[in-house]
Amino acid sequence: MTNSYANSVKFLVLIIALLVGLISCKTNPVKLITESENSKPVKNIILMIGDGMGPAYMKAYRLLKDNPETEMIEMTTFDQYLIGTIDTAPKGKRGKVTDSAAAATAYATGYKVLSRTLSITADGEPLLTVLERAKQLGKSTGLVVTSPVTGATPAAFVAHHTSRYEYPKIADQFMDNQFINEPYVDVILGGGGKYFVREDRNLVNEFQSLGFNYVTDKKTLLNNSNSKVLGLFADNQLNKMMDRKETMPSLAEMTKSAIKQLSKNEKGFFLMIEGSQIDWAGHRKDIVGSMSEMEDFELAMEEVLKFAKDNDETQLILTADHSTGGLTIGTEVNGKKYYEWNSDVVNSFSKSPEKIARLAITSHDLFKEFKNASSMELTQGEINTLKQFVFPKKRNIENSSTNRGKKNISSKGDSRLENELVATIVKIVNDNSYTGWTTKGHTGVDVNLYAFGPRTKEIMGHSDNTKIGQFIFELLEGN
Ligand code: ZN
Repeated sequence: MTNSYANSVKFLVLIIALLVGLISCKTNPVKLITESENSKPVKNIILMIGDGMGPAYMKAYRLLKDNPETEMIEMTTFDQYLIGTIDTAPKGKRGKVTDSAAAATAYATGYKVLSRTLSITADGEPLLTVLERAKQLGKSTGLVVTSPVTGATPAAFVAHHTSRYEYPKIADQFMDNQFINEPYVDVILGGGGKYFVREDRNLVNEFQSLGFNYVTDKKTLLNNSNSKVLGLFADNQLNKMMDRKETMPSLAEMTKSAIKQLSKNEKGFFLMIEGSQIDWAGHRKDIVGSMSEMEDFELAMEEVLKFAKDNDETQLILTADHSTGGLTIGTEVNGKKYYEWNSDVVNSFSKSPEKIARLAITSHDLFKEFKNASSMELTQGEINTLKQFVFPKKRNIENSSTNRGKKNISSKGDSRLENELVATIVKIVNDNSYTGWTTKGHTGVDVNLYAFGPRTKEIMGHSDNTKIGQFIFELLEGN
């Protein structure tokens, strides 16, 4: 008797558990996003590209941000909007690995092109970009990056050129590619000042004469009320987030400012935002710098989500153009296999390896600069490596006629020295955190796709990168 009673109680509990399970499935956030979809028109399109942000970067970032007080590993903002994967291959032989120019062109135009080329066919025919089409349809347009705005990713949306490396020519196209006497991009925010103010041409003056406001620091950006704005906050790239000075805007601040101006247009806008230097740090096998750049990018995503949640005619698409460095979680150090990843080592840094290297170039004391930037414990061997780093003899600065040579750390010799110093620092970080890298270049693995907005369902699953460009064209044409 008691046995069969116990059995029926067990059965009842099972039924209740199943029902609770069914109800909680119904409120799954992914379901909610897709169920609200009913081919609503999309007015605003925001495309976010984490340059080099392959899938292992997402995992490393989650571990880094994890709250150690709780048993679970908390999801990042990215994680909550994951909807699929993207094949990043460029035009050419199967299995080829892309660069940022070909990958950005796929997103900008819906076509595959050869590596290193920007929105142009192999025969030299320019390909219409989604940004150009948005402008032709009366929408406002924007590009927000932390690299020079002439870098491959932003350039693919506005320039048509056979080489991504001809920065002055690409800068010229920001002005010269026009639609009814207006440059195609209304809000341009990032670095690359030296390509806009040159001996042969002053593009800043030209933009100002066409009614653009020109801003160069955080304060003037935040005070800007002009819907046409050129903001160049560095000669080259902006500092990485962890090294950024107060006067330089963050990617989130630039994003917020861009949306404020672009959303004034009743017809809507197209905005591309790039986390540009996740890739740059990846090329240097630098997990500290790349994670700092991901934080900058995640905060920008949160800024976009705030707007998109209040403006339901907004579609956000967030992805990467390729993975960089072949980053892995867990690796082999001196022949020993490690089945773990130590985020504490990465979290112990307050400055990027690049910044530590630059400080050491001035002070000639790598050990001191390393200790100032990180509380991680070092072995005697590592201490020796840092203390015994051989700096080349100081060049005779008095002999040069100007003082410029003193500060110019991008001169050939110093940039080689900086690379050596960064390599020394990142080896210690990678060995202690068990961070693995397979190459100083890109890899061809699929990247993750994230989205929020009324048309999200249509790009769920696995797609080729050209599908994203084609999808944005569909949204623009109101299909
Ligand atoms: Zn790259």
